[in-house]
Amino acid sequence: MSVKPLDLDPAKCLVGGAWLAPASGETLELVNPSDGSTLCEIARGGPADVARAVESAETALEGAWGRATAAERGRVLARIGQLVLENTEHLAELEALDVGKPLKQARADVLALARYMEFYAGAADKLHGATIPYLDGYTVYTLREPHGVTGHIVPWNYPMQIIGRSVGAALATGNAAVLKPAEEACLTALAFAELAQRAGLPGGALNVVPGLGAEAGEALTAHAGVRHLSFTGSVGVGRLVQTAAAQNVVPVTLELGGKSPQIVFEDANVDAALPFLVNAGIQNAGQTCSASSRILVHQSRYGEVVEKMAALYSKLVAGPAMDDLDVGPLVSARQKAIVEGFIEKGANLERAAVGQVADNAPTGGAYVAPVLFAGVSSEHTLARDEVFGPVQVVMPFANEDEAVSIANGTDYGLVASVWTRDGARQMRMAKKLRAGQVFLNNYGAGGGVELPFGGTGLSGHGREKGFEALYGFSILKTVAALHG
Ligand code: NAD
Repeated sequence: MSVKPLDLDPAKCLVGGAWLAPASGETLELVNPSDGSTLCEIARGGPADVARAVESAETALEGAWGRATAAERGRVLARIGQLVLENTEHLAELEALDVGKPLKQARADVLALARYMEFYAGAADKLHGATIPYLDGYTVYTLREPHGVTGHIVPWNYPMQIIGRSVGAALATGNAAVLKPAEEACLTALAFAELAQRAGLPGGALNVVPGLGAEAGEALTAHAGVRHLSFTGSVGVGRLVQTAAAQNVVPVTLELGGKSPQIVFEDANVDAALPFLVNAGIQNAGQTCSASSRILVHQSRYGEVVEKMAALYSKLVAGPAMDDLDVGPLVSARQKAIVEGFIEKGANLERAAVGQVADNAPTGGAYVAPVLFAGVSSEHTLARDEVFGPVQVVMPFANEDEAVSIANGTDYGLVASVWTRDGARQMRMAKKLRAGQVFLNNYGAGGGVELPFGGTGLSGHGREKGFEALYGFSILKTVAALHG
């Protein structure tokens, strides 16, 4: 099978508005994780392609894109959003084949991508500076200006959503972007870029260079022409990206995943919480930076929650993305091996329930049956480290202080959720939890594009999504005029 994003040759890079073969002439194999077959060949971009892309972005900033008004930028983004919606089924199929995510989850990602374009289309002309009262004879005001060329390194778990939130905000604020999608999944990045061209985005305003992290990715982080870096992925690579950003003294936004807890108090509506407790752990086969991989339950409800979660787990079935089951395959055989390694480390723990792999799931697919561990100590690696697979742990706690201590006891701090009917406790917990987002009696709030997102600690720093992202993708300039 050879899969094509729109009518494109997937072995090309988008540079300066033209689809070009990479300078090396080399390609990489893109694998379908549902069965292990080859989907197509993609470009193996490298430093020469990144250099051409950065140059094209600089040229775009000197040309029509750099001169576009905020309203004009918004209009282009709105047209991109419209084209994304018109191509929902095609984009969802590409994402399902490439990432292995069940079709309905892939469709939700397409809608999120369209929503990012709509949101940043509307926001583009609403970002403004301020006037500052100052000494007699002065008028002082601030301007919000683009960084220039922005670099975007995107992982394979939610390509469309992460492109939407980072490239959308960068374009809205007048930057020109160079995007390096993941080598495991880049078809929707290519299709999105083509739709952006069709929507009238000037050539060079968005460039795409697929390739390996250590080649195209590293070249992008090292390029002195890149004035802002946005990275989502592993902690290890995040450190490399921040180190590279330090060399060029450019700002960097890092989103590095987490070990996000949901805390169920004694007065919680457990039946309302249940679908959130489970879905937040197994969505996208657990390969979600904001996955809820730890469930903390007050000891008085612990047995009940374990039993009810186990009942749901035992019905979970993993199978091919196109079969649209609860869980798809993991993105690759490599990721499957990482997750199985974690599950082995829990060999001596209580398995409250294990889901199934569908009988018809091809043997070449990267399937892992979901596992629910119970009674896990907060010191265990399964309770501390990001597994990035369909694995959750349930842990008891005795009181609010202990719940906070366990919840804040990992090196991460991305998302947390609290289930309680006690309003005062909700407010206390929201303040005490170490996380970039806290949800009260829900988890994820539907992932709204409007909601600022990012972490603390090993989860990274900087905020994307919502209006907040526009501050990160722009520079504030203060102008002070002495006129007497
Ligand atoms: P990764 O960090 O290696 O890859 C993410 C992106 O970074 C990809 O586009 C990759 O090509 C690029 N990259 C890799 N090395 C680079 C380098 N030296 N310089 C610049 N860019 C580079 O992640 P992975 O290996 O695909 O996954 C490993 C683990 O990372 C997972 O098990 C999971 O724990 C975590 N992860 C987290 C997220 C998230 O959303 N926070 C996403 C993907 C993976």
